[in-house]
Amino acid sequence: MSKDIIVVGSGLAGMACASYLAKNNHSVTVIEKNSTYGGRLQSISKNGYTFDSGPSWYWMPDIFDSFFADFGKSTSDFYDLKRINPGYRVYFGDDDTFDLEEDLILLKNRLDDLEEGAGDSLQKYLDDAKEKYNVAVQKFMYKPSLSPLEYIKSDLIKRIGRLNLFRPISKHIRDHFSDPKIIQMLEFPSLLLGAKPSDTPALYSIMNYADIVLGTWYPSGGIRSVAKAVYEVARSVGVNFVFDSPIDEILLQGKKVKGVMATGNSYNGDIVVANADYHHVEQKMLPKKFRNYSESYWSNRTMSPSALLFYVGLNNKIEIPHHALFFDTDFNQHAKDIYDHPKWPESPLFYTSCTSKSDPNVAPESGETLFILIPVATNLIDKEETRKKYFDQVISRMELLTKQKIADHIEFYESYGHKNFISDFNSFQGNAYGLANTLFQTAFLKPKIKNKKISNLYYTGQLTVPGPGMPPALVSGKVVADQVMSDIK
Ligand SMILES: Cc1cc2nc3c(=O)[nH]c(=O)nc-3n(C[C@H](O)[C@H](O)[C@H](O)COP(=O)(O)OP(=O)(O)OC[C@H]3O[C@@H](n4cnc5c(N)ncnc54)[C@H](O)[C@@H]3O)c2cc1C
Repeated sequence: MSKDIIVVGSGLAGMACASYLAKNNHSVTVIEKNSTYGGRLQSISKNGYTFDSGPSWYWMPDIFDSFFADFGKSTSDFYDLKRINPGYRVYFGDDDTFDLEEDLILLKNRLDDLEEGAGDSLQKYLDDAKEKYNVAVQKFMYKPSLSPLEYIKSDLIKRIGRLNLFRPISKHIRDHFSDPKIIQMLEFPSLLLGAKPSDTPALYSIMNYADIVLGTWYPSGGIRSVAKAVYEVARSVGVNFVFDSPIDEILLQGKKVKGVMATGNSYNGDIVVANADYHHVEQKMLPKKFRNYSESYWSNRTMSPSALLFYVGLNNKIEIPHHALFFDTDFNQHAKDIYDHPKWPESPLFYTSCTSKSDPNVAPESGETLFILIPVATNLIDKEETRKKYFDQVISRMELLTKQKIADHIEFYESYGHKNFISDFNSFQGNAYGLANTLFQTAFLKPKIKNKKISNLYYTGQLTVPGPGMPPALVSGKVVADQVMSDIK
């Protein structure tokens, strides 16, 4: 029987969920606070420079392919993918860089130069990571994770033991390598995408497999093309969108949702799926007695980092690859400043994405678009002078390490931080990518996709299963749509 379904928020997860539901003949309306779709996948265009404002690493292309295939489409119907080579360059210090080569033989040779036998160790590490990846994609990611029984029933439990999925990734990496630079390179995805490596389960070595073997890709038109593609899929199956309509209340009738209220307009629905930040939905839109989690539950969660971002337009060409990591300062100290004693870091690691290296359309002919990301703790006091201090610091470190002038060529510069995440996305504590990928926040230990007290209210997105990132957001949309449809039956 067809239902009227409201989705709160048009992030990737919300649009994916809406698409699956509409494809199955439900009448779906997505109501979005902002004036356009895509959530964290926005773009900024100024003075001839176009920046992707959020994500920049297109990893796990198989997950995007599988989403489009579910709607009879292929990725190439929407954008072309180009593999970035090197995947990234790490600047460890003066005249000390390492390129992550696409060619695995070349990469192993380079690793052998850093540590004897590291090339062979990489192969073993990646073989193991491949098995973990397959287990994660086939057995973990698409589970609703409403109960641990989902995992105990399957043959997964046997594999969990054999693959050491829950051993800390920091130890797992050190089982294979001892060179500090190799260790940092393999630990970086955990730090950027979620948690201290010592708190991250080895399961997430799948990110190393995704990065090194499956590759880092760039979609034509930039990452915003992904949001546009998912929006087009949603429209093609009949999803309605309402923009500029922040929802401030989920309307209840007894223990059932009957719709939502957005700036004085009410929308009726048989089912509501919330894609907006989970904490915001519960704490701001629902009466206390109907919330899944209390404020103290949230304050005890480990959030993934927030980010201080800079969008920089340069009026000349610079020598830097598409993706670069600046690891010239203490990795462990920065991790502690994010997770152990949250504070503004002294000398943070940072990351840059210079998309004009792969895409001539995003900058004037003789210029560059440069995106800079510093991972920082959530819930910090975000002031203009703090942002400026870090901007000056990272630009002068870049000048030193890449041996070229950058500051003199800045034609355009904008920053983005905690305050913007909160005002644009109602993000809890200004988080950039949801909950950290720690052991105790994995699978059935994440906030649940179903409200425990209201049978027709669901949650999708980066704060629930499977977790942060664009591919998990698409998967989350599918998992929740499947759950809604199975509950309707
Ligand atoms: C700086 C940054 C870098 C990142 N880098 C990468 C990367 O390189 N690779 C990668 O794969 N992932 C990356 N991510 C993570 C990825 O972007 C997210 O995990 C994913 O996009 C989350 O999608 P979502 O649908 O869960 O949430 P969101 O995108 O946050 O969507 C939620 C939607 O709900 C809306 N909303 C909020 N409140 C209301 C309300 N009251 N009423 C109506 N609507 C509301 C919001 O406006 C938003 O549109 C990055 C994220 C950031 C911020």
